[in-house]
Amino acid sequence: MPVNKEIVISGTVQGVGFRPFVWRMALKHKIKGFVLNNSGGVLIKACGGKNDMRKFIDSLKKEAPAASRITSFTVRPAPAENFSDFSIKKSSESSLASANVPADLAVCPACAEDIANPLNRRYLYPFTNCTDCGPRFTIVEKLPYDRPFTSMKEFKMCPDCLKEYEEPADRRFHAQPNACPVCGPQIFLIHKGKKIAEKEFALSRAADFLISGHIVAIKGLGGFHLACDPFNKKAVEKLRKFKDRPFKPFAIMSDSIEELGKYLHISLKEKQILLSPRAPIVALKKKDISYFKYAAPNLDTLGVMAAYTPLHLALFKDLRNKKFKNPLIMTSGNFRDEPITKDNERAIELFSSLGPLLLHNRPIHNRIDDSLIYIDDYSQERIIRRARGYVPELIKLPVKPKEDTFAAGGDIKNSFAFTRGDELFVSQYIGDLDDSLNADFFIETYKKTSRMLSSRPASAVCDMHPLYRSSYLTSELGFKPYYVQHHIAHFFSVMAEYGIDEKCIGIVLDGTGYGLDGKIWGCELFAYENGRVRRFASLREFRLPGGEICAFKPYRVLFSMALTAGADLRIMNIPIDEEKAMRKMIENNFNSPLTSSAGRLFDAFACLILGKKYATYEAQLPMELESISLNNHKASPYDFIPFNDGQIPRLDFSIALKQAIADKKQKLSPAIAAYKFHKGFARGIAEVCALEAKIKKIKTVCCSGGCFQNRKLSLFLAEELKRRGLKVYFNSKLPSNDGGISAGQLYFKILKAEIS
Ligand code: ZN
Ligand code: ZN
Ligand code: FE
Repeated sequence: MPVNKEIVISGTVQGVGFRPFVWRMALKHKIKGFVLNNSGGVLIKACGGKNDMRKFIDSLKKEAPAASRITSFTVRPAPAENFSDFSIKKSSESSLASANVPADLAVCPACAEDIANPLNRRYLYPFTNCTDCGPRFTIVEKLPYDRPFTSMKEFKMCPDCLKEYEEPADRRFHAQPNACPVCGPQIFLIHKGKKIAEKEFALSRAADFLISGHIVAIKGLGGFHLACDPFNKKAVEKLRKFKDRPFKPFAIMSDSIEELGKYLHISLKEKQILLSPRAPIVALKKKDISYFKYAAPNLDTLGVMAAYTPLHLALFKDLRNKKFKNPLIMTSGNFRDEPITKDNERAIELFSSLGPLLLHNRPIHNRIDDSLIYIDDYSQERIIRRARGYVPELIKLPVKPKEDTFAAGGDIKNSFAFTRGDELFVSQYIGDLDDSLNADFFIETYKKTSRMLSSRPASAVCDMHPLYRSSYLTSELGFKPYYVQHHIAHFFSVMAEYGIDEKCIGIVLDGTGYGLDGKIWGCELFAYENGRVRRFASLREFRLPGGEICAFKPYRVLFSMALTAGADLRIMNIPIDEEKAMRKMIENNFNSPLTSSAGRLFDAFACLILGKKYATYEAQLPMELESISLNNHKASPYDFIPFNDGQIPRLDFSIALKQAIADKKQKLSPAIAAYKFHKGFARGIAEVCALEAKIKKIKTVCCSGGCFQNRKLSLFLAEELKRRGLKVYFNSKLPSNDGGISAGQLYFKILKAEIS
């Protein structure tokens, strides 16, 4: 007796080859019926023998395509029907209104094989793809996800491609970007304003340029990369000069993760993520800090990504044929802090002076950077920049808000967010909004994505900072915003991720954000209880002589903190005149705002321990300090002890600073001093937190803020909190830096939280 079942699967199951997969499984297990895409998922009507049905359902769960993500799977008995075969039914357009576009997918092993095989018609073809892989979000103009609504619409499929597209048994069945050398997009090489080569000759010439130490601009999936040999000092120096990044690390790309094992520690999990369809940049630990010293100077990690498109694979293949085995630096192709370049004309304008450009004629519709993640000491994925491979994936909310809402995020490392029903969309990394091109990118992306996902926000949330451009842009979009404090938004970003809505503590260790009292906050402890948020502790305040320039002149912060602490000031070797000027500023309260920023505290201790005065990029010295810090030592940590300033407990840095200065005079190894600082600060924070948790009987702690990109701080704080019986959550799917606050702003509004 055959059984009849109705199966509904939701999650990311459209545009990832799910229907052909179901079709193959049905054939394998002798199941009849049909499969179709409907609103937000896949519907299957299945009829077959009892045993076959069990195996069929099992295979759907266990063998689902790598790029799919199943969030719910329901099986119901269905009325008996007569089917002659198993078919893939066409879905109606209206039923796709609440569907989603998948994120871009790295080249799959089968397509990689096609382009490596000289007998295959797609040998070395840079736009090879199938239902398991290829461009998605970057080429989509609107839904439903069908070729006429993508930037592939300009390319008419040849008979061979069309045959694949229409054959359910084919890997390329309904692969919207399906293409081949006959009908699809093509590459070409521009040098000194002239087209000098096309197709595989363009690839070969680009490889020659790279081997001879040139920088090549390469048009990729979500935008341009600037590529060069990471071991060629001159090439990297030229790139650094162009990007105005004297020390900031560059990521590298390789077609052989195994070969990188010579230089880098690569765990199984890291390898899996590197080679997954998301293919983000993964920050890997170097085996020796001196490795890749041009790409990532003074750091113990290096950002690595796999060659994730057929174009990159074909390029590496050509390089290997020419006996060149190095990986390549692949850094975002942009000028200064502008958005990543996506159009050929703009790229020619920007990069022609630098070297040749490897271009192609498939337009990029949605620009998107490479994502950046790392795996922490608890094997948890932690995202730093959320973009290609992750966006536009939706995050399920634990509650359904009454109306769709927009959140603008912050001004630095901006991402915005909006809801659609009980789903949360967080935009790709937009960048710093003080650059007007990034501001345009913000508006353009909001318009595109809200249309694409049919979300019509009725209200909006912004950061409280009175001068934030994100707030201004929100009013430009026609919203009357509601405001949420910066660090409270950080705190709520963790709650949003894990769906936490009961009482908990938030530890936010961050650079700077506008505080409820108008001061610059950055090391804030909150308690959330009965719908109310209360700031229960902070850091002892200090002044920033000169304001914002302190982020790049950390010795000024160190001076100011030493002055507050009554510590020895001679240690820093500051010119008498500058010292005088700073004293005057601080005494007269002129351009020296008070702050409780954890980021600046890290800058100051790093400056002292490393003996370096300047930073050329955000958090440079703290990153270098973390890189040399030991993980373990018997030396006693520096003492950060709270005192009450009449309002709330404030963690005091003065004893710790004096201890660190004394160690410096004793010429204690910086590696040990770095350990004592990280461990001591983590312990101090944990103690203040544990005290409050005990009084309020709270068991859960949410940690967020830019400082949690620091692995040592994350590890030590987690250890200290766990030892005190607390459950600790960190951002994982959302960045702990300002890229995550849009989600937190939204969640604050959704929970209707209030501040007390
Ligand atoms: Zn493929
Ligand atoms: Zn074709
Ligand atoms: Fe922040």
